[in-house]
Amino acid sequence: MFYNIPTKFFCESSCIANHAGDIAGFGKKACIVTGKKSSRSNNSLNDVIDTLNAAGIEHVLYDRIEENPSVELIPDAVSYAREFEPDFVIGIGGGSPLDASKSIALMLANPGRGKELLFDTVSDYNEALPVIAVPTTCGTGSEITPYSILTLHDKKTKSSIPHHIFPKLALADPAYLKSAPDSILKNTAVDALGHFIESYINSRATAISRMFCEKGLSMWKHVRDILKKSDRTDEDFETLLIVSSFAGMAISHTGTSLPHGMSYSLTYDYGVPHGKAVGTFLASYIANSDDVNRQEILKLLGYSDISELQDDLKDLIGTVSVPKEIYDSYVNDMAHNERKLASCPFHADGETVAGIYKGSLIEIV
Ligand code: NAP
Ligand code: ZN
Repeated sequence: MFYNIPTKFFCESSCIANHAGDIAGFGKKACIVTGKKSSRSNNSLNDVIDTLNAAGIEHVLYDRIEENPSVELIPDAVSYAREFEPDFVIGIGGGSPLDASKSIALMLANPGRGKELLFDTVSDYNEALPVIAVPTTCGTGSEITPYSILTLHDKKTKSSIPHHIFPKLALADPAYLKSAPDSILKNTAVDALGHFIESYINSRATAISRMFCEKGLSMWKHVRDILKKSDRTDEDFETLLIVSSFAGMAISHTGTSLPHGMSYSLTYDYGVPHGKAVGTFLASYIANSDDVNRQEILKLLGYSDISELQDDLKDLIGTVSVPKEIYDSYVNDMAHNERKLASCPFHADGETVAGIYKGSLIEIV
């Protein structure tokens, strides 16, 4: 049994201003890391800057984080912020800026080291600068996980860096979700569903990780209803954020499994948003797992069979078109991915992988 979540987490209205004192405890100079647009339109960036100014904390702003940030982007941000010598890093946005802020915090703490450090846990290195995470989407849970997932152009895929960097503080304000388009709410909430399902059906699952999944899967019933309606309340946005963070707590202990492994190629090759790419494989992952886990998850989610879940997923995220030869290469690659196959608690081989692809939301063209 193992439990470790060293992140102080708050989810409430006016969250940034309420916790100015916690922020000030990290030093006098902050490096803000965010994406190109959304943190300005949803006001999260303003709230952070206002709070820093009021507390007498100086900042440098790096606002060029792209979706699915690449390894190459990290040194660009680091060289921009290095001379300022920040004491801590504040990531604002979806999973992309939050993940990037963790890698940037690691490199800032290790002057003189190149981007190789990101995948090197063998040689000596300093711990990352403290990270504060301000989530503005409702799925990755990155504000409470130790993972920093980067795009590897040389391998044409994505991978988590091996360093585990938990944010020291996570400040989640439901107000930042209000301006998000439906597609972003749906895709990212489906990502959270994937985290619950892949953490539950996982060879590293424990009673503690399952506790987060059981509560979260039963709450996801309400998430589904929230996603389907058009007039969402403040409480609805709070539920979306809390469920997403619960899912982060679950995968912090177990990691993910085959649907995430399968999703990365769809995102790299076709630009499919992360949550949608994960959701493509969720129903068929459950369908190919063992009967006990399958029945338990369907019961928690309030479905009587897999097809009800698949219909809902199709409704929320749609399908993905992939040419036959590429589809075949995906099946073959995953059938030989020993690390991901080992994350399944049931026997999974090439035939299982082919079955998951066959039952997925991919349409072969
Ligand atoms: P994202 O890539 O961070 O952002 C997607 C889009 O949403 C961007 O265009 C962004 O705009 C916009 N956006 C963000 N917040 C918004 C808001 N409140 N209103 C309107 N638009 C908003 O999306 P994500 O799905 O949250 O993150 C995906 C990344 O997280 C992937 O790289 C994935 O691998 C990673 N991930 C990490 C973990 C982990 O544990 N660390 C877990 C799962 C996934 P801007 O670019 O202008 O900001
Ligand atoms: Zn995910």
